[in-house]
Amino acid sequence: MEYSHIIVRYGELTLKSGNRNEFLKKLTKNIKLNLRGLKGYHIQTKRDRMYIHLDTNEYVDDILLKLKRVPGIHTFSPVLRSVLDVEKAKETIDLLLETKKDKKYKFKIQTKRPNKNFVYNTNDLNNIFGSHVLTNYSNLKVDVKKPDFIINVEVRSEGIFIFTDFIKGVGGFPVNTSSKALLLLSGGIDSPVAANMLQIKGVEVEMIHFQSPPYTSPAALEKIFKLTQKLSETVGAIKIHVVNFTKLQTEIVKRIPSNYTMTSTRRFMMKIAEQLAIKEECFAIATGESLGQVASQTLESMHCINNVTNLPVLRPLLTMDKVDIIKIATEIETYEISNLPFEDCCTIFTPKSPKTKPKLEKILEYEARDDYSSLVNEALDSIETYLVSKDGVTALNNISEEKELKEEDFSNLL
Ligand code: ATP
Ligand code: MG
Repeated sequence: MEYSHIIVRYGELTLKSGNRNEFLKKLTKNIKLNLRGLKGYHIQTKRDRMYIHLDTNEYVDDILLKLKRVPGIHTFSPVLRSVLDVEKAKETIDLLLETKKDKKYKFKIQTKRPNKNFVYNTNDLNNIFGSHVLTNYSNLKVDVKKPDFIINVEVRSEGIFIFTDFIKGVGGFPVNTSSKALLLLSGGIDSPVAANMLQIKGVEVEMIHFQSPPYTSPAALEKIFKLTQKLSETVGAIKIHVVNFTKLQTEIVKRIPSNYTMTSTRRFMMKIAEQLAIKEECFAIATGESLGQVASQTLESMHCINNVTNLPVLRPLLTMDKVDIIKIATEIETYEISNLPFEDCCTIFTPKSPKTKPKLEKILEYEARDDYSSLVNEALDSIETYLVSKDGVTALNNISEEKELKEEDFSNLL
């Protein structure tokens, strides 16, 4: 048996019908990006679904695997197509049933007939195909309530599509159909997962990473690039800003009482992120924080940290359990990279007993004792920006260069 097509369904996309054309263009481009390197297919994008025509089945397993991760795809099905003729459709059902001869199964026929010109109606078709199967396959019995598999038959103007599986995609919206957010990316497990969750909802994610050389090593930065590169495989090139945080962080550790240094460090990270977010036209800041996971991730602590910015701070993992976060990290293949043993700037300076319930008045008082503005500006000036794609890391000098590189990333797909 050879599948002729893969049908891709958009789901949620239909809700935003005003932007549909742009959405579909982005989705098509993004699917091509994800299928890069695979051959033997071409894409036909229609208003309500997409057909991936398969010239060969050599790559079909790889294609199906890749489609599972593309934002904006609700479900998809590898299908067989017959011409608009019931006898031919029966032969096609026989092909599909080649793999169902090994034991007894309960089945059900489910016909849809968007092509209202077809001679038979849905009931007729269910009966015709049902009795065909019952007559020719003694191991198969009808069970409409609890079938082991469903034979889906869709009669359309392009032909009759026949398939058993609805494979679940990640859902959401096509990449970069929403505005930008600036995500604080550490080398841990959580923040790459947070990035992925926002990307699935169509948000374009830029990264900001704080490093403190020589306390953090070049290998730690390499790990950050690797994480970003892994994320870029599904969404295309990602911009990352690297801040030299050493001086500011050292001063914080010197000047702020030790049980508050963690809170203060986070506040300064957030302050710097806010400045950059405004410059980069990001409408929100995002983090990988999850309630209760560590000392700095209590509501009291988030209250103190948020106080430095008016931008919304998105925390997609807020209420998630670690096991579920790890599950996603494993699926998106960032888990192994996150587990590489390189230090983060926060862990190096972690005080023995950080306040789990910091008080805003206290931290404001401690920070008011000194003027940190020139240190903040210095950190902002130190920012180095890179564009990370599947093919590597490129330092960015100006905006036009960024646009050019992003387009280049897609150019061989068009
Ligand atoms: P993660 O696994 O994402 O590092 P974590 O459980 O280790 O999370 P923390 O180290 O407390 O938690 O970090 C909380 C959040 O703060 C991270 O998810 C990330 O968004 C941000 N963060 C921490 N360290 C850095 C850093 N060096 N650069 C940028 N963001 C950071
Ligand atoms: Mg961390």
